Amino acid sequence: MITRIVPQLWRQIFSRVVTNVFPAVHMPPSLTEALSDPATPPNPPVPVGGRFRGRLHYDRSKCIGCRLCIKVCPANATDYQADEKKIVIHNDRCCFCAQCTEICPVKCLTMSETYMISSYVRKENIVTDSGPIAASPR
Ligand code: SF4
Ligand code: SF4
Repeated sequence: MITRIVPQLWRQIFSRVVTNVFPAVHMPPSLTEALSDPATPPNPPVPVGGRFRGRLHYDRSKCIGCRLCIKVCPANATDYQADEKKIVIHNDRCCFCAQCTEICPVKCLTMSETYMISSYVRKENIVTDSGPIAASPR
């Protein structure tokens, strides 16, 4: 048993780290203070691949109000605004399955690269318009 564990342990110690140490190399006592302190900049975001599923991006101006995204959503994360024939996205309910982005006929829903979506304020995760895709923040 020990002859199998030691080589494995040795490999782990010296192998290249592929996960991103985020947002700081060592967890500070207060993450909020560390992020706002220019003397301790956070690690840069890890590069994400082309199929990364981050926060849902919604280009309201392109939406035709067909409601297909609402029908396919397994998490009940989209609501319909009948008066405006648009939708509202509840990112706090979204499970990032991307089914709505695939079925949307005008491609106004896309999965962005944004993954910092935690918030103490629930309303911040309710999206009514993210603007055109080129304006999407990381
Ligand atoms: S990504 Fe999935 S869970 Fe999120 S809003 Fe679209 S269909 Fe719903
Ligand atoms: S599927 Fe696309 S066009 Fe249709 S309501 Fe949803 S976001 Fe709008």
